[in-house]
Amino acid sequence: MRNIVQPKVYLVAKTELLSENLLAYIADIGGPAWKPGEGTPGGETLIEAAGRICYRSWQEYDPEIPEGTNPNVVRVRGGAREYIANLLAHGHGSVLEHVSATFILKDVSRVLTHELVRHRAGMAFSQESLRYVRLDDLGFWFPRALERNPDALKRFEEVAGFLESVQKELAGLFDVGHMKDFKTKKELTSLFRRLAPQGLGTTIMVTGNLRAYRHIIAARTNEAAEEEIRLVVGEMAAVLKSEYPAVFQDMTRDEATGAWVFEHRKV
Ligand SMILES: Cc1cc2nc3c(=O)[nH]c(=O)nc-3n(C[C@H](O)[C@H](O)[C@H](O)COP(=O)(O)OP(=O)(O)OC[C@H]3O[C@@H](n4cnc5c(N)ncnc54)[C@H](O)[C@@H]3O)c2cc1C
Repeated sequence: MRNIVQPKVYLVAKTELLSENLLAYIADIGGPAWKPGEGTPGGETLIEAAGRICYRSWQEYDPEIPEGTNPNVVRVRGGAREYIANLLAHGHGSVLEHVSATFILKDVSRVLTHELVRHRAGMAFSQESLRYVRLDDLGFWFPRALERNPDALKRFEEVAGFLESVQKELAGLFDVGHMKDFKTKKELTSLFRRLAPQGLGTTIMVTGNLRAYRHIIAARTNEAAEEEIRLVVGEMAAVLKSEYPAVFQDMTRDEATGAWVFEHRKV
C-alpha cells in the first residue's frame, strides 16, 4: 500500500484588532457613542469600523461631534452582525478586504495547488519548492473513485510506487546523497521533479482576505469543482465561518451536495 495522506488544514494567523488604538481614534473624532461589540471577533469589529468610517455612522447626528457624526445618517445599525448583514446585502464587500486569514494546507496535491493559485485577487501563496526539496517518500491522497474499482486502485498504487522509485533511482545515478555543491543539487532536483506526479502530497501557505475567500469558497466547493479542492476549501470554509460568523452569516452548507452556498454571491 502506498503512502496515503489526508489533506490537513491549519489556520495559523489572522488579522488582529488593536482595540485600544481604535478607541483612541474614536476619542480623537469627538467620542461618538460607539464601542466594539462584546464577544465580537476583532476582525469583524475592524470591518464594522471600516464601514462606519465611510459614512461617519458611529451614532446618530450630533452637532457637538462634527467629526464623528453626519447629518445625512438617519439610521444607525447596532452591532457587527446587523451592520455586516447590511454590507453583504448591498454588495459593499470592499471593507471585508481589511481582514485576512492564513492557512497552511498540508498533504495537498499539486493538482489542488495549481487550481488554488489561479485565484490572484486578494491572495498570497508560498508553496514548497520541488527545486530545493528533494523527493523520496511520495504521499498520495486517493480520490474516492478508486474505492469503487480495485483494479484501478492496484494500478494507481503500482504507478505511484514506480514514480517514487524513479526519484530514488535518479538520485542514485547522480549520487546526489554525497554531493556538497548546492547549485548542482538544485539543478538535479529540478530535473528529477519533471518525473514527479502532480498527485503527490505537498504543502502550501495561503493568505487571503475575507472577500476573496467568499469568492473562492463559492467557486471551489461547488459541485462542478474538483474533488480534493472541494474537500479542502470546504474545511477552510467551516473554519472561517466559526472565526467570522457575521461575515459568513449568509453562507450555508448544502448537505445534499456538500457545497457552501451564499445568499449574496458577489459582494
Ligand atoms: C469548476 C472550475 C473549473 C475550471 N476550469 C478551468 C479550466 O478548464 N481551465 C482554466 O484555465 N481555468 C479553469 N478554472 C479556473 C478559472 O477560470 C479561474 O481562473 C479561477 O477560478 C480563478 O478565479 P477568478 O478568475 O475569479 O480569479 P480571482 O483572482 O479569484 O478573482 C476574483 C474576482 O476578481 C475579479 N478579477 C480578478 N482578476 C481580474 C482581472 N485581471 N481583471 C478583471 N477582474 C479581475 C473577477 O471578478 C474575479 O472573479 C476553473 C475554475 C473552476 C471553479
